[in-house]
Formats: sequence, C-alpha cells, structure tokens
Amino acid sequence: MKKAVFIGSVSHSGSTLLNFVLGNNKNCFALGECYAVFRPHKRHHSVAAEGDFSRACSCREKSCSVWTECLEKGESGFYSHLWEKYDVLIDSSKHISWYEDQQKYTEGIGKVKTIVIYKHPADVLLSFYKRQNFTENWSVAYYRYYSEFLNKWSDSVVVSYYDLVSNPKEIAEKACELLEIPYVEKQEEYWNGSYHLLFGKDHVLNHKKFYIDNSWKETKFEIYSGALKLFGELEKRKVKVV
Ligand SMILES: [Zn+2]
Repeated sequence: MKKAVFIGSVSHSGSTLLNFVLGNNKNCFALGECYAVFRPHKRHHSVAAEGDFSRACSCREKSCSVWTECLEKGESGFYSHLWEKYDVLIDSSKHISWYEDQQKYTEGIGKVKTIVIYKHPADVLLSFYKRQNFTENWSVAYYRYYSEFLNKWSDSVVVSYYDLVSNPKEIAEKACELLEIPYVEKQEEYWNGSYHLLFGKDHVLNHKKFYIDNSWKETKFEIYSGALKLFGELEKRKVKVV
C-alpha cells in the first residue's frame, strides 16, 4: 500500500534534514513544507502558488514540472498523483490541521505513518533568538505542539535531532524500519540525492555532512517547565541505537 509519512516538529528542529534523509530513495518523494503552496500565507508562497517555483522548490527551476502538475491536482489530489510514481511521500509541513486533512483525503488509498523530531527547548529558543524572532512564551508553544501531535498520533516514531546528526546511518535505518518504508545503503548521505522539496531550509544540501552545535547549552533562557518535562518524555520514547 502507498504510504505518507508526516513529520511533526516545531520550527528549527531538523525537519527538513529528516525529510531529505527519509526521501533520499528512488521509491520515496520528499515534499518539504508543501502545505504552503496550497495554503499560501506569505509573499514567497503566493509567488509559487502562481507558478513560479524558482525560490520555492529545491530544484530552483522557475517552472518546476513536478509542482506545476501537483498544483493542478489541488491539495486533495496531489498525493494520489505522486503515488502513481512513488510508494512513499514524506511531508514536513508540520501543521497538524494540514495532516488531518491529508489523512481524510487519502483514506482507503494510502496509509499514514508519523514521525516526530525534536531538539531541547533551549536550542530551539536560541534559533529564534538569533533570528530576532524571540518571544518568552515560545517554550509554551513547544509544549503545546508536541503534546497535541502525540495525542493525535500516539504511535509516532520519535527521533532526537542530536542522535540523527551523531549516528545518521543507524537512526535512518531504524526510523525507516519502524515506519515500514524502504532504506537503501548510504541513504543518510542526503546531499547526494536529487529533490523537489518545497520551502524547506534546503541550504543544508550544501553542508555535505552532519554537525552538532552545542552553544545552546550556554544559554540561560527561562523555559516553561511543561516544555522541559515534555523533552524528558521525548527522550524516554526516542528511537535508540545500541
Ligand atoms: Zn522542483
């Protein structure tokens, strides 16, 4: 049966990286944050929705044929359209309501699997802080998002960003096994793949390696206690490699 994998995470937590790793397989297609081309809410989304993908798709082609065809099928039809060519679609839109709608549209056609990726709340806060997009309440949003996602899809595979970048091969292999999707040797070397990924932080393709930045450990942010507790729960549930 055809499959869709929904990636759940808050911003700045490695969802694009995970999408590339899971999608680096000829049977799989990495969609990126595809919801935004169907539900545009920023200027660069609208530009893509009008057919110019030069800033939206990782292929950088203005008239990307893949997404031009998907746009014609609409948000309720493009999964089925892509399933004619690929067995597995990996969606990192992250929006819970979008995933709920896709689950409805594809009922009886495809099977949904879910995976969550997370960082420490202080690490995510540091990313917002660096982009001058900082609010004190942000760790509350972290708590709410992961709680809601895991309430809805309680059997989600849980992956720590730090484990993914420290043991990419082991984590990729194990995640694919748990998601019941194909894994091929060296799939984690995502920089060798070719993609049509929408709106993700595709500059990671230039890195050609995995690296860890531990500077968040020096931060002194006030973190909502619920977020810290949730991080602890994610740590307990995460995929472990021996
Ligand atoms: Zn493209």
